[in-house]
Amino acid sequence: MTANAQRAFSVVGREAAEAASAPEGGTEIAIDGASKTFRRGRMETHALDGVELTIGAGEFVAIVGPSGCGKSTLMRLVAGLLPPSSGRVVIGGETVDGPYTNLGIVFQKPILLEWRTILKNVLLQTEMRHRKDPGLVDRAKGLLAAVGLEGFENRFPHELSGGMQQRVAIVRALIHEPPVLLMDEPFGALDALTREQMRIDLEELWLASRKTVLFITHSIDEAVLLADRVVVMSPRPGKIERIVDLDMPRPRGLEGRKDPDFIAAVESITQIFLARGVLHGGRKGPKLVSA
Ligand code: ADP
Ligand code: MG
Repeated sequence: MTANAQRAFSVVGREAAEAASAPEGGTEIAIDGASKTFRRGRMETHALDGVELTIGAGEFVAIVGPSGCGKSTLMRLVAGLLPPSSGRVVIGGETVDGPYTNLGIVFQKPILLEWRTILKNVLLQTEMRHRKDPGLVDRAKGLLAAVGLEGFENRFPHELSGGMQQRVAIVRALIHEPPVLLMDEPFGALDALTREQMRIDLEELWLASRKTVLFITHSIDEAVLLADRVVVMSPRPGKIERIVDLDMPRPRGLEGRKDPDFIAAVESITQIFLARGVLHGGRKGPKLVSA
């Protein structure tokens, strides 16, 4: 690994994150009986069924569920990118009706513009919002430094590893200081070690800014290590099967896996998936059934 890659891989210190992003707080998200049915010709897909969930201001909520259970659909409803078939989403007291812009979104792929530098990829968000606040460039550089990318501002996306590119996508989602951050399997395309590090760094960033986070993942461990509450979804049509509260001390970092509450929560969520046929036990232990 090069020195630069090592640097990007290293733990982001809380101080750096705090310097880049002073506590800002988040906004409440209320999902009020949201259902979604997709219709294509005579084909109907009932993706989501009566989801009722309030995410408190500054709360970190993770959603875990099998493939195809409507996690991404739920996120698109929250972002106003899709209208619900029934029910509604309310953010900060305002009903979402069309794309909601006061949020940041991170997807599984970083989706960076190859012809723009890292700094200009980050600033694209503010250009699109016609924001010209003084200090934006400094804020972008501060956030890049906080995720281990100091010195990469003038590089191009192809010069960065997958994990580094995903860090840029996270900074791009935060640059306009949104009170809400939506993340749809943001670490799903990364190797296991990079994924672990990104999870640790995300917790540090969140502790420094306390945004309202809706984090979607396939990984039970990741959900339990990151969230204040884990929402467990059933197979399609996606419904909330259970909500698990996590009161483990933070930062959970690497130590979190040793916490008896972590072990108990992972076990209880695994049991839900076993009972719902999402997992099957075998001689080698539970196995995820791909959908
Ligand atoms: P997840 O993110 O949990 O894997 P999705 O929300 O992507 O699940 O999809 C839930 C279900 O809705 C799937 O059966 C998927 O095929 C279907 N679906 C998602 N988007 C559309 C769409 N635009 N048109 C038709 N069906 C869709
Ligand atoms: Mg999805």
